[in-house]
Amino acid sequence: MTAAATPRTILHVDLDAFYAAVEVREQPSLAGRPVVVGADPKGGRGRGVVSAASYEARRFGIHSAQPIGRAYSLCPDAVFLPPRMELYLAVSQRFFALLERFTDLVEPLSVDEAFLDVTGSERLHGDGPTIARAIQRAVRDEERLSVSVGVAPCKFVAKIASDLRKPAGLVVVDGAPGAAAAFLAPLPLERLWGAGPKTAARLHQLGARTIGDVAALAPSHLAAAFGGDGGAHLQALARAMDDRPVEPERAAKSLGREHTFEVDVADRDEVARLLLALVEQLTARLRRHGLAGRTVTVKLRTDDFETVTRAATLESAVDTTEALLPVARKLLSRCDTTRRAIRLVGVSLSHFGAVQPALFEEKAVRQGRAVARAVDELCARFGEGVVTRGSLLDRAPPGPDVGPKPRPPRAPPERNG
Ligand SMILES: [Mg+2]
Repeated sequence: MTAAATPRTILHVDLDAFYAAVEVREQPSLAGRPVVVGADPKGGRGRGVVSAASYEARRFGIHSAQPIGRAYSLCPDAVFLPPRMELYLAVSQRFFALLERFTDLVEPLSVDEAFLDVTGSERLHGDGPTIARAIQRAVRDEERLSVSVGVAPCKFVAKIASDLRKPAGLVVVDGAPGAAAAFLAPLPLERLWGAGPKTAARLHQLGARTIGDVAALAPSHLAAAFGGDGGAHLQALARAMDDRPVEPERAAKSLGREHTFEVDVADRDEVARLLLALVEQLTARLRRHGLAGRTVTVKLRTDDFETVTRAATLESAVDTTEALLPVARKLLSRCDTTRRAIRLVGVSLSHFGAVQPALFEEKAVRQGRAVARAVDELCARFGEGVVTRGSLLDRAPPGPDVGPKPRPPRAPPERNG
């Protein structure tokens, strides 16, 4: 038996059909139409997959990770759009800034979802459901996007709750003892976090169908199938026992951003643009938390799931795109030795320390920090997103099949070391 911990109020906040919703917001004429973001369907002969589908498209059976040709055959009249990661990442950044108004304890889970521990915010902002509704209102008013929220006494249950009534759903699970387990019990066991198809199949073999069945299984049966630790972990989740804390980025030893392409990408210009967007987002987060780091790590995964990382440690800690990007680019080129299509790109910074007042910093880096500070200040006063770096906007206007190919970002000034 675990000792009763202090009751917590955890929110899981998840934007609805994120990429597709951003596209509809940017092109209001698309409202109400089936919108599919992903690979070019090429009249049904396209390769690659769906990255995101609007709820209208989902009514045709279209869903993310589905082959794009299949999506096309389900609804040839849908609007098919290529993904615009820079745009989505910029929206994502404002979304996280918005969440941080409600609590310091925000843990990003991906570009469009986060855990919040609002236990300490309730005196200021009201109880969990009140905060959840305030977040939904703010996201709707400021971003014109809809978001679903789960409120629960632990992370795992909050995550399941947010998914139950999408879009714009709010599901509240009481914090009273036993309430969370009772909430989970009737749900299919496929909803257990981490229960992939193999785990689910083995649980079915043990006679379980629901999460409640898993909670009631004999621990010895679970241990025989999943090992002692694995079985205990599954059963703890099924019983809503999850005391993992919400871990905000600023408490982390490293800070990173990575992105998995839904469709593996061969075009190195696209990879370079993604790296820039990731670095922009990362440095903005660093400055927001007052952090700067010396060790830069770049991660690259190719379409055959080979992952390569390369790291470099700088003489002084950095927190600007101007300082970080040239290093990240060099590391990326050292990772990218095959000509295979690319699946994932990540960049992170660790080894935190103070930014040196830079006697030896090159002028571009000093100017970069001055620009970054000015941008941060404007964002603090007028909201993030009022200022966006020109090179991020250096693209053709949106459209499914119009406009020139976007140019890669301008080369930054080269830097030694
Ligand atoms: Mg989402």
